[in-house]
Amino acid sequence: MAHYDIAVMPGDGIGPEVVDAALSVLKECQARYGLTINYAFYDFSADLYRRTGRKITAADMDEIGEADAVLFGAMGLPDVRGPEGLELGAQVEMRAHYGLFSSLRPVRLFPGVESPVKAKDIDMLVIRETSEGMFAGLSDYHEPSDESASDRMTITRATCEKLFDVAFSQARARRKRGTPGHVTLLHKSNALRSNVLMEKVFDEVAARNTDVGSAKYYIDAGSMYMVTDPERYDVVVSENIFGDIISEIAAGLVGGLGVAPSADVSLTHGVFQPSHGSAPDIAGKGIANPIAMILSTAMMLEWLGGQHDDDLCIRVAQNIQAAVEAALASGPLARDLGGTAGTQQVLETIIKALPA
Ligand code: NAD
Repeated sequence: MAHYDIAVMPGDGIGPEVVDAALSVLKECQARYGLTINYAFYDFSADLYRRTGRKITAADMDEIGEADAVLFGAMGLPDVRGPEGLELGAQVEMRAHYGLFSSLRPVRLFPGVESPVKAKDIDMLVIRETSEGMFAGLSDYHEPSDESASDRMTITRATCEKLFDVAFSQARARRKRGTPGHVTLLHKSNALRSNVLMEKVFDEVAARNTDVGSAKYYIDAGSMYMVTDPERYDVVVSENIFGDIISEIAAGLVGGLGVAPSADVSLTHGVFQPSHGSAPDIAGKGIANPIAMILSTAMMLEWLGGQHDDDLCIRVAQNIQAAVEAALASGPLARDLGGTAGTQQVLETIIKALPA
């Protein structure tokens, strides 16, 4: 049986609260199903930077990258900014350092949760490119001033090929769950040269994967369909900042950020974190919904199972997903879903629902 080393980075705000909950679930799974995990904790956060000036370095990331996977809470506080005026958070640095080019963001309407739209069968995977595009720190082509500032959208063929290979293989793997196997590219090739290249490479990769259906929409129309007809989507893939935005629209369709997990992965490294941020407005109140973090932990186990050919890990991931589904169906629900339960009560309901 495999043994895993997990680096844990709780971060800021509600990060430590939801990470604690996820670790309780993992430790229960270790006791119940015989998983073996060692944890190494790293306290990088915007708060640490504010207090000490210390931020994550390449040497830190080399050390952290030795772990089999990283569990990440949330990082960043709106009032803590570095010298460039940007917020501090290790997630962008880690994406660059480990070459995490795809952020997998599954979005599913669970029984017991109400959607603000009429659709009932929402089950999609948004894949956001995360190593380039308009969000990757490539903003250095001229110094910003009070009069003008620029950011650059750069997209490369090599990243697009890897990204779309992931999208088509995810669509194929999701067929096991009865979904049809379909990939949609959301892009803006009518206006952005970078997106012309992205669309061209998408067509090439789609032509090599004709067993999976494919479609393309301009990001503006595609965003409208996300709200008016989300059931048309299975796997949705997009550029970094477009993907950032549409993944949160998608999360809003199924109850919000409190139930939206994510996995930032390359072919060798994985950082698993909820789609939400540090939520300073509710930090310290014991009311953060831990489900997005717990589902991200299940994604970590699923990914480790795939990387290491470890069926136990995959079964435990499925058990956690089943327990979350049962807990949402039975309630009590957390406040962001219209209920009254706090973090601890949601956690206890999930642990009780874990299969024997
Ligand atoms: P946010 O995701 O932290 O919060 C948005 C809203 O959703 C808030 O009302 C919050 O209370 C609510 N919310 C988020 N997670 C929740 C949960 N688990 N349970 C219940 N409600 C939840 O976004 P924001 O307020 O725009 O940003 C706050 C900070 O987080 C900023 O500093 C931002 O840069 C940072 N951030 C970090 C990450 C990350 O670590 N990956 C992602 C996004 C934002």
